[in-house]
Amino acid sequence: MRQNKKQYYGGSQTLLRQRNIAMVVKNINQKGPMSKRKIVNNTGISFAKVNSIILSLIERGIILEIGKEGSNGGRPSALFKINPNYRFIIGCELSHTQLRTVASNINGEILKDDFQTFDFSLRKKYIVNSIINSIHNVIDQLGDSRDKILGIGISVSGLVNPKTGSICHFPSLPDCGDWSIEEIIEREFGLFCYVENIANAAALAELNFGIGRGIDNFLYLNVGTGLGLGIIINGKLYEGVTGSAGEFGHIMIDENGPLCECGSTGCLESFASIKAVVHKAKEMLKRGVISSLNNATEGNNEFVNFKMIYDAAIHGDKLSYSIIDEMGRYLGKGIVMLINLFNPKMIILGGKLSGSFNLLMNSIETIVMKHALELPRKSTKIVFSQLGENAGVIGATIPIIEKFFDNPLRKIEIDREIYIVN
Ligand SMILES: [Zn+2]
Repeated sequence: MRQNKKQYYGGSQTLLRQRNIAMVVKNINQKGPMSKRKIVNNTGISFAKVNSIILSLIERGIILEIGKEGSNGGRPSALFKINPNYRFIIGCELSHTQLRTVASNINGEILKDDFQTFDFSLRKKYIVNSIINSIHNVIDQLGDSRDKILGIGISVSGLVNPKTGSICHFPSLPDCGDWSIEEIIEREFGLFCYVENIANAAALAELNFGIGRGIDNFLYLNVGTGLGLGIIINGKLYEGVTGSAGEFGHIMIDENGPLCECGSTGCLESFASIKAVVHKAKEMLKRGVISSLNNATEGNNEFVNFKMIYDAAIHGDKLSYSIIDEMGRYLGKGIVMLINLFNPKMIILGGKLSGSFNLLMNSIETIVMKHALELPRKSTKIVFSQLGENAGVIGATIPIIEKFFDNPLRKIEIDREIYIVN
């Protein structure tokens, strides 16, 4: 997270109490519901201080008392948990084809939703306006709860400069330059904004709310129009020196392969992505290969899409099956590299293909069984995302949620970001 975006004020006593409050709230969030005694044991903060912090947190509505735990003869203790609706977060996902904006709570539950499709030929200004409109739509849907918004997180299918939060490469928008969407959004809404790459965001979502919870070393493979990778090492997102770690789709696997939009040739995503599969199907249909896809598109091959190909493959269309199988084998090759390189506990398959993995899995597993090193392969589970198509947009909200847990008493407006202590 960009540390320079945080500001700390106050004396050392104030800071100490802030740290204690943050520790109590984080503890309840990660391991709760729990009693005061348990919090004392977990944090090492004195009972008197924990008591006073709990009272203050209940008064503010940050935590809730949710009943008593079973006692062993003594008085039963009250249990506390975070109030998931104490604050809300706006999450946006800017992919190659659409913008999705949601309002979620601290538990990552989506409460409001807005979808917009894009015409990228209309360029940057149009996209900025669409993002702003979409955020306004969702904020309007929140009604009176709009005052509880913590901030706005945006995940993008492009490269993000980790120092500035600017989008420095967005494949669908060649002229994007170094585009600071963070600044634009903060100016428009007066709320903290954080921009993250979509695969990184999705990995964070799985770590916090999905199948990666409690797993310290895993990879999230975002299979969609492109092919991205979120890397979690020792419970933290690994972003690399320039924030571009995980550009897995641009690993060159065939020097003489097709030209990629990154400028190189034969990148993995030219073989193992939705775009690649659709392109291949169109090519084959153009060459006159017989396929039920001709019926699905009523003869106009330009209308062929991934869902049509997947459905046709399931229903026995040979061409579609072979294209999906080939995609699975290429994905398998990529996964072999990941297993041998990272020795992860888990590889999570997610993205726009969510729900279409079963057919691919056979092809992936055949390659992985045959080619990955046995020792790391045996300790790697390949699983499907639990969050499905929500991972990218929920992930966008995580840096905002983390910021809340760093300082639960923070005022919301960015220009008045100060710590308040009772
Ligand atoms: Zn490439």
